[in-house]
Amino acid sequence: MNNRIVKTLILLFSLLLLGSFSLAEGIADTWICLSCGREARGDVCEVCGEYRGAWICTGCGARNLSAACRQCGKTREESLSEQASDPRPFAAYPAVRFLASSGDPASLLRLGRYYEKGIIAEQNTDQAVSCFRSAGEAGSADAWIYLGRLYDAGVLVSRDYAEAMDCYQKAADLGSAEACWYLGSFYEEGTGVEQNYGMAIDYYHMAAERGDADAWMSLAYCYLQGNGVEEDRSKALEYYEKAAQAGSAAACDYLGYLYMSGSMVPQSTEKGLEWYKKAADLGYARSMYALGYTCQCGQGVEINLEEALRWYERAALAGYRSAFTVWQNFK
Ligand SMILES: [Zn+2]
Ligand SMILES: [Zn+2]
Repeated sequence: MNNRIVKTLILLFSLLLLGSFSLAEGIADTWICLSCGREARGDVCEVCGEYRGAWICTGCGARNLSAACRQCGKTREESLSEQASDPRPFAAYPAVRFLASSGDPASLLRLGRYYEKGIIAEQNTDQAVSCFRSAGEAGSADAWIYLGRLYDAGVLVSRDYAEAMDCYQKAADLGSAEACWYLGSFYEEGTGVEQNYGMAIDYYHMAAERGDADAWMSLAYCYLQGNGVEEDRSKALEYYEKAAQAGSAAACDYLGYLYMSGSMVPQSTEKGLEWYKKAADLGYARSMYALGYTCQCGQGVEINLEEALRWYERAALAGYRSAFTVWQNFK
């Protein structure tokens, strides 16, 4: 090969190399505009005309280009994370998109919901699922649970119980009590797996010990029915009480019913009413209705029709349909 050919080849090769470098640089050089949330290139956003890196401080409203607000000193990171949790999607979007692009799990989850619902961004199922997955992989148990529920219900994706269990397991590994409860319920009902009460109880215990009230309820039910354990009513009662202590309104209501009727426990109107009131305070409509009924019939209390009407009205407003009918006839 003579020198000229070698030189030409070197020149061509270096041009090619340069070309591929600038191409790579071109791809890498996109940025998320902090004003409109769109992807931009160059120094100025083509959509809204804002400069690269410019941001509006959530503390004082000043427009900034540097890392801290020139007026109040708030850092760009603080301001962005506040903006990303703004409940109004339009206000939050630019920060959500920016933080999601840097791998922030909560922002990825939120961006996924925007894609799912078609809020600001166009509805895009694949993008939504990919955001949920990335959020989960970045450490969000909530994202795994969200994705698990989609697979469980066959919403956005085709129903796939194995995939749902996989998502719940990943959330459980991240410490989620709720995910353990879901796994327990799959084993209890034999959804996607062979029914296995032993596994169900193990998962319910895991969830209960992590503070999940529903798990205490589920455990109580297993002991009441003798599912996977020897039937044990006192153990069931103990677990209903634990569920109530952990804040389960349904457990309070059930305990109210047990004491009023005297099943499993010695009958006590006083205790029954106490549990019903606790459930009502937690917003449980059925307990409000039951309290109305006790006032109407004088069950362990003096008949008080005005008080009964008030309870029926509360129950109706909390969504208890038969309370509405009673309230209408009563008035
Ligand atoms: Zn823009
Ligand atoms: Zn400021």
